[in-house]
Amino acid sequence: MYFLCCGNKLLYSTILGTIQSVSEDQKAAVTKRFKKSWKGHPPEIVTIFKINDIDLKRQWKNYGIMLPQKIETCEEYYHGALLLCDIAGDKKLCNEENCGICITLRDSFNDQSCKRHQSSTKFDENFILDLCSSSSDKHTKENKYGCRAVLLCDVLPGRKYNIQTHITTDRIPDGYDSISAITEDDLQSPIIIVPNYEAILPRFIIVYKHSH
Ligand SMILES: [Zn+2]
Repeated sequence: MYFLCCGNKLLYSTILGTIQSVSEDQKAAVTKRFKKSWKGHPPEIVTIFKINDIDLKRQWKNYGIMLPQKIETCEEYYHGALLLCDIAGDKKLCNEENCGICITLRDSFNDQSCKRHQSSTKFDENFILDLCSSSSDKHTKENKYGCRAVLLCDVLPGRKYNIQTHITTDRIPDGYDSISAITEDDLQSPIIIVPNYEAILPRFIIVYKHSH
């Protein structure tokens, strides 16, 4: 299931095990962005952590430099995944095999579990992220602590192939680095499809609770 060997997994676990708290200003800024991109009534933020990994950032920057047309514009997208652990209380990543948020960060997005299978697309080998936090929420599930989590990521789309209607292609066309499209579900929100996890830099873990 994993592409990285155990040694590397341990390395990431060690590096990213020390996720950082954010300042009040940073928390307010990220909360504002999260709530603004939520369609409908937004949930309550429980906590926000900053992900600050030099190697990940270097890899992401190198990806931008290597883009054929050197389009290094950065855009923010959300990645929703299953959260099993009490990350808000523990303040560290867990080692649970099925905790999607922690796996994504431990394995630096290089894992099958991070790839989304959309019934409407054939992009199984690519990474799909959401522009709206409420769309990413669909890929989460409330855990036993009543929480869910999404990652706020900086994405380097490079040259985007824009699709305004249904996705009819099954690959990123030649000469393009990503696909920008609209989901066909009821939320109808924009997504970005990138071929490589190196295009994605996870910046913040946003833990939140729906009010019942
Ligand atoms: Zn976890």
